[in-house]
Amino acid sequence: MKQIRTRFAPSPTGFMHLGNLRTALYAWLYSKNNNGSFILRVEDTDRSRYVEGAIDVIYETLKDCGLSWDEGPDVGGDYAPYIQSERKDSYMEYALKLIEKGDAYYCICPPDCDTCTCRDLKLEQPSQPFVIRQKSPKDGSTSFKDEIYGEITVDNKEIEDQILIKSDGMPTYNFANVIDDHFMNITHIIRGNEYLTSTPKYNLLYEAFGWELPAYIHVPQIMRDATHKLSKRDGDAYFGDFKEKGYLTSAIINYIALLGWSPKGGDAEREIFTLDELARAFGTDGISKSPAIFDSEKMRAINAEHIRRLSPEQFKEAAIPYIGDHPVNYDILCAALQPRTEVLSDITAQVDFLKEPCAYTPELYYNKKMKTSPDTARSALNEALGVLKSTESFTKDELYSAFKLLAEENAQKPGYYLYPLQIALTGKPAAPGGGLDICVMFGKEESMNRIGKAIEEL
Ligand SMILES: [Zn+2]
Repeated sequence: MKQIRTRFAPSPTGFMHLGNLRTALYAWLYSKNNNGSFILRVEDTDRSRYVEGAIDVIYETLKDCGLSWDEGPDVGGDYAPYIQSERKDSYMEYALKLIEKGDAYYCICPPDCDTCTCRDLKLEQPSQPFVIRQKSPKDGSTSFKDEIYGEITVDNKEIEDQILIKSDGMPTYNFANVIDDHFMNITHIIRGNEYLTSTPKYNLLYEAFGWELPAYIHVPQIMRDATHKLSKRDGDAYFGDFKEKGYLTSAIINYIALLGWSPKGGDAEREIFTLDELARAFGTDGISKSPAIFDSEKMRAINAEHIRRLSPEQFKEAAIPYIGDHPVNYDILCAALQPRTEVLSDITAQVDFLKEPCAYTPELYYNKKMKTSPDTARSALNEALGVLKSTESFTKDELYSAFKLLAEENAQKPGYYLYPLQIALTGKPAAPGGGLDICVMFGKEESMNRIGKAIEEL
């Protein structure tokens, strides 16, 4: 059996759209699932859209996502070069072969010309600027088989004579793709279904050259809702948008894998996957024909699950940029934050008391369940201060025993002391951790300072 080779062929725009990343992911998963190769090829033939540093965004995004490539511009391979602008001459050579065969022609019309007759003129290479167009049949129809959508037939009169070589001598995206896919032995072409109707044009090129057709796997588009594509205007169409919002790469990959594909068999109900697990579970039978609707709530829930699965060390490393630099015990703070964080940017608002307690009024000490009020808080905090002062090692266990004893002696529940403690330390009715967690987080001196100040204000 022929070795399976898939490719990802992005244009360096400086951004990675989630739809493109998902195409890369599916191509990667398909190659891994079939012991094949995954090829990265950069489509930079549109010089007007050239962006400095944009190729690095492609490399960095794929590396961050774990989508390693077997061949590519930086790692080389048997079919180098993998940057289209470096293959420029071969496109012209094959366009000229098509002219010889009568399957393409020179066109000297201005852009937007709709009365072109060059098709019938059989021009020799013109001295004025020209483009080379594909000569498509004008009657009959062209059919092909897509692995997801089945048999697709397009009337040939719908097929325009697309440009193959532009006036600057560069190939169009479509032409370069066909040439490269053939010479790089790409066996399976995985891309968005917006290419379904232009696929017959590509197939006519393969046929004109007498080349074997690749298999096509067209995948449904990612939509904002039933009628709108996920566009850059929404502010959450790019991989970088989600990274900035505090989503984990593993969660982004997990979620976009499920946009247009669902697992089968034993994994049918499953939603949480690592990249390796996806590679084992992936198959084209799970790819849907219908558009995939992007659901930000679902993505958030999947991210929350990925955060819960991080080791304490991994979470701490991811959380510290959002916590900032404070003289607190990060291990205890992070242990409290991890189950309370769905996306990393949630952390900022949760730790706003670290520099100083949030502003609050004494009303905050009212709590029905804990039976506390500003009055009870005053005496409870005074007693608490005494307990903290006499506590030696300041561990949570030691503090808990001391407060339990205090509560028992005064026939109160621990919350009678611990709730005012939390308010005094943070100024917040809900904090990452209870009063004792926060005491340990701050240490003895800072805890006693804050409680002292809170008593003064009461
Ligand atoms: Zn023309």
